[in-house]
Amino acid sequence: ERAPVVTIDGPSGAGKGTIAQLLAKHFGWQLLDSGAIYRVLALAAIHHNVELENEEALTLLAAHLDVQFLTGNDKDAIKVVLEGEDVTGAIRSQECSNAASKVAAFPRVREALLRRQRAFNVAPGLIADGRDMGTVVFPTAPAKIYLTASAEERAQRRYNQLRDKGFDVNIDRLLAEIIERDERDMNRPVAPLIPAEDALVIDTTGIAIDDVLAKAIDYIETQL
Ligand code: C5P
Repeated sequence: ERAPVVTIDGPSGAGKGTIAQLLAKHFGWQLLDSGAIYRVLALAAIHHNVELENEEALTLLAAHLDVQFLTGNDKDAIKVVLEGEDVTGAIRSQECSNAASKVAAFPRVREALLRRQRAFNVAPGLIADGRDMGTVVFPTAPAKIYLTASAEERAQRRYNQLRDKGFDVNIDRLLAEIIERDERDMNRPVAPLIPAEDALVIDTTGIAIDDVLAKAIDYIETQL
């Protein structure tokens, strides 16, 4: 009775967000940006002066997180509202990126956010973007994609994205932070960033978005 799920996992800057949005649009399905949930939790922790090392307090905060994901006027823009405040832009800062990967390392925090993520699985289908969508959150998904790219290319893409949003960033620092964040995401004991055994791995280094999208659509159609 559950609607079909397509999982898109991989490190930051591999093109997941863009591809997930385009796929959701193509199929007319729901979109889950699971990273945004970890980012919102990190922001809530900062607002409420909860220490990023305090698993117990973070778990409690995660269980009671007052967050809404709204579809904006612009069809592919999703608004993130935390405790009534629009934090769509704020959660994209480097501070939130780094804090998110810290809070995401705690098993009980992840557990507390599972149900919230699975609730996105409604008809007619779901495109789920994250790190553990295919391995933990939706392990029986009929189609799983793992996107990756070289760290340099991912840093360059992140740089362009942040610059376009008006953030002032340094590319070398960005590259160092991406490597550090990936390391933390890949080496944590719970839900580490790793391709699901049955995932299609696509290296997007030097490949145009349209080509990645076409490949993904072809693959998904054979799986459904
Ligand atoms: O994808 P995004 O960069 O927004 O994710 C921010 C952080 O949230 C990641 O670095 C990762 O630590 C964490 N995350 C996670 N599991 C997910 C999605 C994101 O641990 N499914």
